[in-house]
Amino acid sequence: MLAPLEFEVSPEDRSFRETVREFLRTHLPEALRAGSRATPTVFAEPEISRVWQAILHDKGWLAYNWPREFGGTGWSPTQRYLFEKECALADAPGLPVLGLKLLAPVLCAYGTPDQQAFYLPKILSGEHYWCQGFSESSAGSDLASLRTRATREGGDYLLNGSKLWTTHAHFADHIFCLARTDSSVKAQRGISFFLVDMRQPGVKVRPIRTLAGDHEVNEVFLDTVRVPATDLVGVEGQGWSIAKFLLENERGGSCHAPRLLADIARLRDEATHEPAGDDTALIDDAAFALQLARLELEAQALEITELRILEQLGLGERPGPQSSIVKLVASDLRRHVDALAVSVFGYAGLQLELRRPLYGSTAPEPVHTTSAQVAMPRYLNSQAWAIFGGSNEIQRTIIAKTVLML
Ligand SMILES: Cc1cc2nc3c(=O)[nH]c(=O)nc-3n(C[C@H](O)[C@H](O)[C@H](O)COP(=O)(O)OP(=O)(O)OC[C@H]3O[C@@H](n4cnc5c(N)ncnc54)[C@H](O)[C@@H]3O)c2cc1C
Repeated sequence: MLAPLEFEVSPEDRSFRETVREFLRTHLPEALRAGSRATPTVFAEPEISRVWQAILHDKGWLAYNWPREFGGTGWSPTQRYLFEKECALADAPGLPVLGLKLLAPVLCAYGTPDQQAFYLPKILSGEHYWCQGFSESSAGSDLASLRTRATREGGDYLLNGSKLWTTHAHFADHIFCLARTDSSVKAQRGISFFLVDMRQPGVKVRPIRTLAGDHEVNEVFLDTVRVPATDLVGVEGQGWSIAKFLLENERGGSCHAPRLLADIARLRDEATHEPAGDDTALIDDAAFALQLARLELEAQALEITELRILEQLGLGERPGPQSSIVKLVASDLRRHVDALAVSVFGYAGLQLELRRPLYGSTAPEPVHTTSAQVAMPRYLNSQAWAIFGGSNEIQRTIIAKTVLML
């Protein structure tokens, strides 16, 4: 068996890691850990993610990727990474990233002081739950062709159009949205970025059920939705630049390796206990062990790349097009790890009979779930990794053009 590859950790960071471990041991309730293990979808549902958010908020550890002047923890890139890694190893639920990790950095960089003062505390406290309204029915990879319009009327904009694949819109009370404010200029230049309160007439959310039977994404319809001009981020026509900044963070601003490595470690553990016949365990099967080792090595290589990007962010730089490499590698790994998990459980892993609801009627009380039960829905959901945040083909084009300069 391969010895686990560990990047070097300084004595201060080791002590930081111990503090985080101790906090997780004492403050992360078993119900949340179990809920996280039972989650088949990309995002954890608010029933558990918001509870975890509140716990971290109380501790002052929630805004760990925000600049210090806006309430960030001031942790070094390595410490941020160690925090995410310990959370993954402890089965902490994912946080509501759309507000915390996508919109908040946009507001810090492009928002007015009033927008920062109003929205950032509400993102932290969980009072506002955000979703992302970029894609439309004929504007996914070709996002610049979006047709939702924003027309100025006095001190407001009126938004008309529809958004597609909007993750967690059925939980959200706010949506950050791209809309066209000018059709007479080049497509990219006519787009603006808006903050929209969904709790008003004219906003309709229609669910989309996925292949795995989950309700994670939606269609959102905007029918003459009023947005105060003070909720335009940046200036008119700056939406494309802001969206690119946000998408870089979506693709490379999060660390994917910690959870992949935690899942691989769990798979190894399960394969050690899963009989393969004749008193042997699945892990003794050379072909299986080889696949697992290959995935582990690739996840470790991803870990180093993510650490390098974090260093860059720590120096105040943007993740840049390298974030596309991270997204591409993480997407492939996620799908392969989840496919291998299905194979671990054989027939049991093929069942789609995942219990509903996930966490029972009163949050956060997870219904009993085995790894075998969650394997297949998770595998089906993992296919979406090659699509959301820009498909694999689009990431490859970005890498070819901007990293390899082809
Ligand atoms: C689970 C999930 C959650 C999502 N959540 C959100 C969300 O919260 N908010 C949001 O705004 N969007 C969200 N999306 C939408 C996502 O960003 C788009 O689905 C994605 O950008 C692809 O767009 P499309 O679906 O329109 O496919 P298309 O753009 O129609 O692409 C179809 C296929 O053609 C390929 N293709 C297209 N153009 C090219 C090209 N130029 N070169 C090579 N191949 C190409 C694509 O790779 C793909 O395989 C989500 C999607 C999924 C699946």
